[in-house]
Amino acid sequence: MKPDRARTVSIYVHVPFCVQKCHYCAFDSTASREITWQEWLQVLLKDIEFHAHHRDGRNRKIVSIFFGGGTPSLLPPEILERILVQIHRFWPLVEPLEITLEANPESTTFDKLTQWRSLGINRLSLGVQAMDDARLALLGRPHTSQMARDAFHAAREAGFTNINLDLITGSPGHTTSQWHDELMQVLALKPQHLSCYALSVEPGTPLAHNLDHNHLQLPDEDTRDALYFLTQNLLGAHGFERYEISNYARPGFYCRHNRALWLSGDYVGLGPAAHGKITLETGAIMRWVNHWPLNDYVQALKQDQPPMQWLEISSREEAAADCLLMGLRLVSGIPRDLYRDIAGHDLVENKAREVEFLEREGLLHIDCDTIRFTARGLDFMDSCLLRLI
Ligand code: SF4
Repeated sequence: MKPDRARTVSIYVHVPFCVQKCHYCAFDSTASREITWQEWLQVLLKDIEFHAHHRDGRNRKIVSIFFGGGTPSLLPPEILERILVQIHRFWPLVEPLEITLEANPESTTFDKLTQWRSLGINRLSLGVQAMDDARLALLGRPHTSQMARDAFHAAREAGFTNINLDLITGSPGHTTSQWHDELMQVLALKPQHLSCYALSVEPGTPLAHNLDHNHLQLPDEDTRDALYFLTQNLLGAHGFERYEISNYARPGFYCRHNRALWLSGDYVGLGPAAHGKITLETGAIMRWVNHWPLNDYVQALKQDQPPMQWLEISSREEAAADCLLMGLRLVSGIPRDLYRDIAGHDLVENKAREVEFLEREGLLHIDCDTIRFTARGLDFMDSCLLRLI
């Protein structure tokens, strides 16, 4: 295990509450108010203490904190403050600490933004998803494109200099000319970071139901490909670096939190349904998932029981597969010695035939320091990974 990996950890806090359930959403979130903020805070404080005292997770320095959801911008700032104080009580920090908060336009106000800044939150991730009101309605989002613009400008005014916008491509009826127009609107805002994910249709969602019953249709494969390449070309032409398959940033604004996770960093997940992963000194990897639904998580903590269940300890083979799955999403790939540390072997020696094939096809590049997919390899990432894992 690399020394810095053994000494650091990222913290993820899952805030599961939402204003309403979006039509495509299969995340662990809820639009019902089952408990008060105060009740939720009390159990979360216990959760932080529980995980802080767990062996091997303690005494590590925190490199980043990420409030995700759900809709963390619904949290009253005084609750956020209590959570941060509790985290700082137990874990030392690495400066400069990146603290990200995911926010949705309908629950983002100038007052909240200024309070978030004063709490040390220095990266905002706005759930914009689309800059077209009809598409936002189709996705079941409770905001309009004007509300997204207003939230962005308010964030700038409040002092946020590092803002990400989350966007979704490939929803029913999405065309390249519409996407071009949306991207130009987004670029006019001058954000530092853009996450552009292709829509994933999850079973059991209203969107899946409407597609199954032919009320809606997804764009065909050619259109989806054209959307994918349009994103790369337009953002590249406007000075954004594509540093991960779906993530683009101005130089110096990569998301530290996600980058650490893509490079096999350890993380402590707090809050219901959050996952965690800690690498032990022996190299074994322990994983857990906090209870979900919400009531199971709350009741466990109220009764001073562990709020989570352990997952099986990962074998070295599984850890090596995870390292490739996560790390090869990055355009810069994986340090070759990181893979060697985790897997206990060198990829070139262990997968000689597969590596040779992928290199010959111009899909994979390996040198002394790095294992990475080429631009073409990233376009066919899933099938390339299948060969390697
Ligand atoms: S805001 Fe996000 S987590 Fe909440 S319902 Fe919509 S997609 Fe799901």
